[in-house]
Amino acid sequence: MREDDWLREAVTSSLRPPKMRLNKFLAEAGVASRRSSDKLIAQGRVRVNGEVVRVLGWIVEKSDRVAVDGAPIAIPKTKTYLALNKPVGVVTTLRDPQGRQTVRDLLPAGAPRVVPVGRLDYDTSGLLLLTDDGELAYRLMHPRFGVEKDYRVRVAGRVAKEHVQALRDGVSLGDYRTQPCRVRVVAAGRQASLIEMRLHEGKNRQVRRMLDALGYRVLSLQRVRFGPVALGELKPGRSRSLSTRELKDLRRIRAGHTSKKVDAP
Ligand code: URA
Repeated sequence: MREDDWLREAVTSSLRPPKMRLNKFLAEAGVASRRSSDKLIAQGRVRVNGEVVRVLGWIVEKSDRVAVDGAPIAIPKTKTYLALNKPVGVVTTLRDPQGRQTVRDLLPAGAPRVVPVGRLDYDTSGLLLLTDDGELAYRLMHPRFGVEKDYRVRVAGRVAKEHVQALRDGVSLGDYRTQPCRVRVVAAGRQASLIEMRLHEGKNRQVRRMLDALGYRVLSLQRVRFGPVALGELKPGRSRSLSTRELKDLRRIRAGHTSKKVDAP
């Protein structure tokens, strides 16, 4: 499987809704109440994949084609787009075998089935997008679209000028050299320095590994922007829906544009 196909499959398979009873499917599609849907089923007016189904309690899957009186039926779907401020100590998965707190645990009760767009390390905080729009999630994660991500990093000690330049030019991470990126030193003191970095790529633990390669210990790492979406004043552990403006800009990426330019860190 090509890397592209693998990523697309990983995103869409985790979004596939669970199986559903046929009468519930018909009710959610707005055909009739569940009880009236049972009547339609009993009357032989409902077909699944072309076959009449008269079994009450029949289970349908996402890939099934459902029709009533010959007309195809689908559940209308409004997509969900959330921004979460992930605290340190939360895993970017939907379920954790080790029982640690996950990003799903932080979403409001009854939130739809969404997947995280990429990941933040356990010990990284900040902006994480979640959506059930598989196509958009795929584009936002794919390196080809080069979505910009801004990070605020605190490192131990005073960061040296030549190291700032090295971060900008690209750092060798063993078999990989990072692409040029924007770097701004916000504060540099003897004890610690605060740096902002804007990356277009997202290798595993990239910021930490870049700083580690130059001999710096990362004290904290926070993502403050993902493409057109800024973390802003969102409190740790809280989520919000994306604004119309943010969605419009994200959809430009979905339509095949690369990410919108924002002011440099
Ligand atoms: N870079 C890292 O090192 N960690 C993250 O969580 C995100 C970017």
